[in-house]
Amino acid sequence: MVKAIVGACWGDEGKGKVTDMLAEKSDIIIRFQGGSNAGHTIINDYGKFALHLLPSGVFYNHTTSVIGNGVALNIPYLVKEIEELVSKGVPKPKILVSNRAQILMPYHILFDQYEEERLGKKSFGSTKSGIAPFYSDKYAKIGFQVSELFDDVLLEEKVQRICEQKNVLLEHMYHKPLINPDELLATLKEYRDMVEPYVCDTVSFLHQAIKEGKNILLEGQLGSLKDPDFGIYPMVTSSSTLAAYGAIGAGIPPYEIKDIITVVKAYSSAVGAGEFVSEIFGEEADELRKRGGDGGEFGATTGRPRRMGWFDCVASRFGCKIQGATQVALTVVDVLGYLDEIKVCVGYEIDGKVTKEFPTTAELAKAKPVYETLPGWNCEIRGIQKYEDLPENCRKYVEFIEKEIETPITMVSNGPARHEIIYR
Ligand code: GDP
Repeated sequence: MVKAIVGACWGDEGKGKVTDMLAEKSDIIIRFQGGSNAGHTIINDYGKFALHLLPSGVFYNHTTSVIGNGVALNIPYLVKEIEELVSKGVPKPKILVSNRAQILMPYHILFDQYEEERLGKKSFGSTKSGIAPFYSDKYAKIGFQVSELFDDVLLEEKVQRICEQKNVLLEHMYHKPLINPDELLATLKEYRDMVEPYVCDTVSFLHQAIKEGKNILLEGQLGSLKDPDFGIYPMVTSSSTLAAYGAIGAGIPPYEIKDIITVVKAYSSAVGAGEFVSEIFGEEADELRKRGGDGGEFGATTGRPRRMGWFDCVASRFGCKIQGATQVALTVVDVLGYLDEIKVCVGYEIDGKVTKEFPTTAELAKAKPVYETLPGWNCEIRGIQKYEDLPENCRKYVEFIEKEIETPITMVSNGPARHEIIYR
């Protein structure tokens, strides 16, 4: 049985916590897209961790963590993350890296920085992890696949060829130091030694696991609105954030993905530039940011303060729809306990007309939020374990959202820790 855990909006919905929680009953957890450009925050018995590249199942002894072929594999980062876990007392996790995954090269990170520099005020607010240059190269067919590290002849020829091309850009477009092919080759050989213990034909491994009826989790990064096709293009990420892509980024049959658990946050937050209709500012935003998540809404990778906003039914409904959500985990509901009243964005006004359909980016730029105000519950709900024990106004808030997003909310998260969750 394959389940996917994905985000409905801009990311940071709390997927890490939900994955960590569900990983307890899983055999295999797979990362299928993205790279080390976003992070999951996980709090468990070993402490607090920000995972960037490793799947959230690495804390259990019984799980296998897979880095699928769809991931942007930063090899030194992977090794660093494993070492960090071990140094904090976590037993060394079982990790498999797809032999078809492509390698995030040191120059991808540089090109990401140089391009943001060149764009200046028009930059994307990239995390400068090299993700856009990486996926550009993958689809331009000039990427390096893990399997290629083990073929010296191929590697040498390819390094020469790629350097010629990259160096033209470095010299004439960015006016930056050139890549030395011998150094790059030496780096790739170091990468080979680092990654070798983990390399695996993960396609065969996963197909066998499916045959044996193993419980498999696909762990998405970011959310629907950062998808290159359906998100707020061009302020999106460079690989698909959708559960459907899990089939491709892991190499499994699409029809095996039976359950798409979509994580939705009880308010909105976003990092980086891009349209954000229900965004709030000033003291109102500062207050929510300060109370949000676990110790404030700041990016797990960059530490940047997140942009804050009220719950957006239009964006969340679309986000669930495009994921094909079968059920929703509504997170950080506890955070809203300080409010007397809570605003919820129920529609977008565009050119004088109100719509509930999430529009394309150009239209979105014109959208103004239409709010409905719901009564708050004004108390702490952490520690509550049964849905019936939640304050009535809190339940009404959950049920209001459920109706708007047209997907059953089966889990309500009322705290950052692994077991702070209410099943409905
Ligand atoms: P992800 O990228 O979707 O995994 O999200 P992050 O882990 O970056 O952000 C979610 C933040 O909210 C983390 O700091 C979590 O520890 C925290 N968190 C998750 N669920 C809850 C919750 O129900 N209540 C509170 N207060 N914090 C939560």
